[in-house]
Amino acid sequence: MASVAERSGQTEVSDRADGAHDLFATAVEQFGIAADLIGLDDGLRQILGSCKREVTVNFPVKLDDGSVKVVTGHRVQHNAAPGPTKGGIRYHQDVTLSEVKALAMWMTWKCAVVGLPYGGAKGGVEIDPKQLSLGELERLTRRFTTELHPVIGPEVDIPAPDVNTTPQIMAWLMDTYSTNAGRTTPGVVTGKPILLGGSLGRNEATAQGCVFAIEEAHRQHGKKLEGSRVAVQGFGNAGAIAARLLQEQGAIVVAVSDSRGGIVNHRGLDIAAVEDFKRITGSVIDFPAADAISNEDLLEVDCDILIPAALEDQITRENAPHIKAWLIAEAANGPTSPEADDILFERGVVVIPDILANAGGVTVSYFEWVQAMQAYSWTEREVNDRLYRIMTDAYQAVAATSERHGVHLRTGALARAIERVAEFTTVRGIWP
Ligand code: NAD
Repeated sequence: MASVAERSGQTEVSDRADGAHDLFATAVEQFGIAADLIGLDDGLRQILGSCKREVTVNFPVKLDDGSVKVVTGHRVQHNAAPGPTKGGIRYHQDVTLSEVKALAMWMTWKCAVVGLPYGGAKGGVEIDPKQLSLGELERLTRRFTTELHPVIGPEVDIPAPDVNTTPQIMAWLMDTYSTNAGRTTPGVVTGKPILLGGSLGRNEATAQGCVFAIEEAHRQHGKKLEGSRVAVQGFGNAGAIAARLLQEQGAIVVAVSDSRGGIVNHRGLDIAAVEDFKRITGSVIDFPAADAISNEDLLEVDCDILIPAALEDQITRENAPHIKAWLIAEAANGPTSPEADDILFERGVVVIPDILANAGGVTVSYFEWVQAMQAYSWTEREVNDRLYRIMTDAYQAVAATSERHGVHLRTGALARAIERVAEFTTVRGIWP
């Protein structure tokens, strides 16, 4: 049976065991710090600190052997004041409602940081897709989409890919929604195959946006990207493409990893060769001309730029004092704990927070949605030019807010985002 990674050639399966961790508590803690900073009033604090809609569905899937498995999935819409809600769907055995709520809240702030007309949402299905055949995966996706039909739609809530979900899965989602609605509805989902109205540049968008943010950080701090040493945790869609784009800019990628372990070569890894190796063997481990390194040690490796691009909860108060990079760009969502943020800030390490660093993905998803609603497609050049402008402007605005308040970039980014969403809420008013 082919795994999702083998079938898509793009998104791959990851392993973790953080089910017990209450990620929503972390998201609320970060929100509270920024809300205090801007003096948010109590009513707005209650509205923005909670999720507007939490849907959990338990639905049956017919397996190939004729048996039936009941699967649990969630869709959470955090806030719809700025517009329809937007956010990915992940398939992972450790998905929890708390995690999905946190990711939905972060989507609201992320869309606000880059000025998109969306609120935040997220979805997750508690399943290990490695254990499913292609047919089972399609039936699961079509049934989950049908269960969500009343709460999603092109002007309601627009899903997208996330960990372990692929353009093919988005195509099934679009087809199922369209069949149930009785009309072709490409705007219901982003991250679709190009043939069905996917945007050029979407596959690279998260990494490209992250690299634009890294470039802007270098300009602000008077540093050169060329010759900088980079370590990337997570060699998937976001991490591998970021490594490749940075190498093209003259940076030296010294270490990369995936769920099975990492590799290091202080003279630099040939990223195209590592990508080929991984395509053939399924992992970066055992790549020739490199030494083995654990995922934990990779975070503390001697480098200038560290890119966590795997999953949450990686940089903690235990390892934050030992990180050598001067710049951390969070391609992953939620990799750094609030205590680690404070330690890094005191040490002068610059952290480009997830809601800014990986906002390129949702920005190009927004471009895809605009193109779908207009039945018109843009060139890759147009997509990347617009992405560059949005990422650079957002970085500068966040840096200015952080400097004004004397806080790190995460709190600065959150403060800007919360102010914007609070303004939408206030101007629209509370009905009735
Ligand atoms: P992916 O499945 O393509 O890649 C994830 C990579 O992380 C894989 O190489 C996997 O082996 C590795 N990994 C898993 N567990 C690991 C661990 N414990 N240690 C080290 N590596 C591990 O997923 P992706 O789309 O690249 O997403 C990665 C992160 O980026 C997630 O946090 C996701 O929410 C975030 N993100 C992705 C996008 C996007 O457009 N792809 C957009 C915004 C945010």
